Amino acid sequence: MLWTFKYFQYKVEVIPDNPDPKNLKKDIVYVVGEKRYVKWAYIKCPCGCNDSIMLSLNKNIFPSWSIKQDKRGRVTISPSINKLDGCKSHFLIKKGRLIWAQTAESSPYL
Ligand SMILES: [Zn+2]
Repeated sequence: MLWTFKYFQYKVEVIPDNPDPKNLKKDIVYVVGEKRYVKWAYIKCPCGCNDSIMLSLNKNIFPSWSIKQDKRGRVTISPSINKLDGCKSHFLIKKGRLIWAQTAESSPYL
């Protein structure tokens, strides 16, 4: 089944504790928690600035994100990820692919 990984960029790794933000791999979405209860997701900013991005998966906190995987393990994070500091990257991870946000007019996810 390894070949399927070639068709998408991001993989999900569920880990029990927060990762070291300095040691994130750029193609892994780190989900902190356990399968039934997830708290945070960490990803390394894909622009190359080396910042880590922490996303709350707790629906009681605003803003929060949801992570889904399809049957082939492809990860989708919604809504889009908008980094407000530093590089101000704005992107979307959909079915394992990284999609950079365009203008408000061309992106249906803003
Ligand atoms: Zn960045």
